[in-house]
Amino acid sequence: MSAFYHRCRYLFLPIFFTGLSLILFQLSQPKLQAWQETLVELPYWLLSIVTLIAIQFNRSRLAYLAILLLAYYVCITEPRLTIEGLGQYSDLLLLGGALTITWFAFIKDRGLLSSHTLVRTIGIILCFAAAFGWIWANSHYRTQLDNFLPALISHEIRLFIPLYLCALLVLLRGIWSSNLISTAILMTLLIWGGHFLLPNPLPISVSMSALAIIYLLTVLTESYFLAYRDELTGLASRRALYNLVLSLGQKYSVAMLDIDHFKKFNDTYGHDVGDQVLKLVASKIAEVTGGGKAFRYGGEEFTIVFSRKDASSVLAHLEGVRESIEEYDIVLRDEKRKKQTKAKRAQAQSKSGKKTVSVTISIGVADHQHGENFDQTMKNADLALYRAKQKGRNQICI
Ligand code: GH3
Ligand code: MG
Ligand code: MG
Repeated sequence: MSAFYHRCRYLFLPIFFTGLSLILFQLSQPKLQAWQETLVELPYWLLSIVTLIAIQFNRSRLAYLAILLLAYYVCITEPRLTIEGLGQYSDLLLLGGALTITWFAFIKDRGLLSSHTLVRTIGIILCFAAAFGWIWANSHYRTQLDNFLPALISHEIRLFIPLYLCALLVLLRGIWSSNLISTAILMTLLIWGGHFLLPNPLPISVSMSALAIIYLLTVLTESYFLAYRDELTGLASRRALYNLVLSLGQKYSVAMLDIDHFKKFNDTYGHDVGDQVLKLVASKIAEVTGGGKAFRYGGEEFTIVFSRKDASSVLAHLEGVRESIEEYDIVLRDEKRKKQTKAKRAQAQSKSGKKTVSVTISIGVADHQHGENFDQTMKNADLALYRAKQKGRNQICI
């Protein structure tokens, strides 16, 4: 269940805050009449800006979606461009748009102007062609379908079956890939569907502005993660550590953690299993108590910084981390085990019969001394780590 929760972590907050803001907006709508003109202009600016930023950050799917939304917004709001009776195509727009959004949830970000542009354009056309085909088949064979299918599935429900399937697929994709871009795409689908189906939808200018803001926050937050998060373990990176240093006071302690005999571990089980173990060890280190902030310093070395705490008072918290890793029987994934030789598999056999491995870590901790800079404190923690290794590993030294 916790793994499921972990996968959903990028879904809950963004969806909650978007829903909340849209509800608040709906409630305060009467007061916003005075802002009507500005609101109508807003999506032009926001969607254009977000397109440029998404291109700059190589988030081409969001750039495409922003361009498509902008094109739709221009068509329905710009009097000179209004396509006569766009409303009669609302089913086509709804379903074609939903298929396009769903397709975007499953493809990769590629250069906006690259060899993929043609494929993307053809893909969008095909999505709308499929939506057209579905609508046409539903109206052309309406009587046959009415007789054939149970009364429960009315014509309206039947017509929107692709939309429900799309929503389900994009939701599953969001849970599976667990990243902000998938969540932004899911919210695009929800807001797009709501725009056509809700009896009393929000003004289109608000929906489009909301989506532009969601894209903007997604691109910026993703870039922040890229810069300050370690990709393999999800821990804060060394760059984030040196960012934290700027805000540290005089009193703090630093711990350096290093996995014992990890080179041998890699040689025995392979680099892929090594990576898997590194991730799990990092997840244990991230759970450090006592206000410690964990970072991946590099390779199989980690740093924990305790602000406003001296080394002796953090020992118990570090001991907790060391013990939790020592006691952690890491179950290897099947595909990794298949690559091992019989002898290595036997070596990994645990009491319970599951194929597990375990590792230990050594820790060195040092206090920040008056007049010392961060690098010197790190060096002292490193020397303490060296002593822990010398004394036989799987222990803490000050
Ligand atoms: P010691 O107990 O003295 O620390 O022994 P050790 O073998 O762990 O020695 P050291 O810390 O010098 O070894 C680092 C090894 O960690 C080398 C490399 O095989 C492994 N390593 C470093 N980064 C990664 C990584 O990202 N993934 C994997 N799988 N292994 C890594
Ligand atoms: Mg090392
Ligand atoms: Mg090591």
